[in-house]
Amino acid sequence: MDDFAPKNGVLHAEDVPLTRIAEEVGTPVYVYSRRTFERHARAFREGMEQAGKIHLAYAIKANPNLAVLRIMANMGYGADVVSVGEMRRALAAGMKPADIVFSGVGKTVMELEAGLDAGIGQFNLELEEEGSVLAALAAKRGQRAPAVLRVNPDVDAGTHAKISTGKAENKFGVAISDAVAIFDRLAPLDGLDLRGVAIHIGSQLQSLAPLEQAYVRIGELVAELRARGHRITHVDLGGGLGVPYRPDDVFPSPAELGAMVARVTKDWGVTLMFEPGRVIAGNAGVLLTKVIWVKPAVGDPWVIVDAAMNDLARPALYDAFHDFVAVEQTGERMVANIAGPVCESGDTFAKNREIDVVESGDLAIFRTAGAYGATMASTYNSRALVPEVLVDGDRYAVVADRIAAETVMGAERVPDWL
Ligand SMILES: *Cc1c(COP(=O)(O)O)cnc(C)c1O
Repeated sequence: MDDFAPKNGVLHAEDVPLTRIAEEVGTPVYVYSRRTFERHARAFREGMEQAGKIHLAYAIKANPNLAVLRIMANMGYGADVVSVGEMRRALAAGMKPADIVFSGVGKTVMELEAGLDAGIGQFNLELEEEGSVLAALAAKRGQRAPAVLRVNPDVDAGTHAKISTGKAENKFGVAISDAVAIFDRLAPLDGLDLRGVAIHIGSQLQSLAPLEQAYVRIGELVAELRARGHRITHVDLGGGLGVPYRPDDVFPSPAELGAMVARVTKDWGVTLMFEPGRVIAGNAGVLLTKVIWVKPAVGDPWVIVDAAMNDLARPALYDAFHDFVAVEQTGERMVANIAGPVCESGDTFAKNREIDVVESGDLAIFRTAGAYGATMASTYNSRALVPEVLVDGDRYAVVADRIAAETVMGAERVPDWL
């Protein structure tokens, strides 16, 4: 089911024609569907519930818009945050501190203190020294910080190198071979309630096999830790489930993931924690754009749109594919390159792609832009910061304003000695 579908020849978001949003808000603009977010949140919960006692922490970095976070809070999700800024967003959206997991390979002392101040539910430790620093900070305040140790299971997630996180050469977690010794040293510290382990092997995973391999390894580690007398009550299995970007892509469903998790973890006797991001947000948003020019070329023509790499960085960052669809479809097709106005050849969304026929002034969308889209936007080339809209049935709200280049410039100053 898709909440971005044509009605009477015009693409809608739920019941709102995208032509209306383009006219009233302008382009480029991200458009999200509340219904899709809620359906994905429900499907993921139902999938994981097959595995027993669970805690769901939406990975905020995928889409941190406050309205999106409010939807996730209403759906009973906590948050996985990787900075104090994300933590403040989760709290502002109404998530309970106890439901927040603080991840991230470079948490500063200030961030650890902010997490302790807020009373967040769990710190995911990335190295031994972070654990001893956190323990000391907590002990000084008379607190015991709930924490788990993130382990790098050294499995190949089979995804793009830039979003792979569970290989030995990646910066994340402690080597699985060192995990027991580190746990032995950290667990006795006064300021820590070291209660389990965590993994997250990468993003946009298309196969359950590497996840299963990682979970099996983590299960063996849990058994070993228990054999040494440690009390293990929580295992954080991270996020990473991928979503289809191409129309013919096939991905494992949350139900299939949940069934595998249930099988692999059936004897663990812990609270299983999950940090889904993309699988919730990816297909809940599109980037609505307008064609500026169709420029003839030696080869395929260039469709120059008003969205660019500063609005949607994924194609430039990791060669990501985003389906491009005209808002008003004629049924005619053409082969073209699609690019934005930014002065870099990397600002190209597609090469040699068969697409709907478009001409200047036409509207189109990049699909599957709800995750790692607006949140990665910048103002490069002194472009405005892209706005966001949330649709709910036949109504919509602007949930993030377009921030003009002049506003950004307003935060700069020329010193009087120039
Ligand atoms: C990015 C990230 C996630 C979410 O990954 P998705 O692929 O979006 O599900 C979860 N946990 C951690 C620690 C992350 O860094």
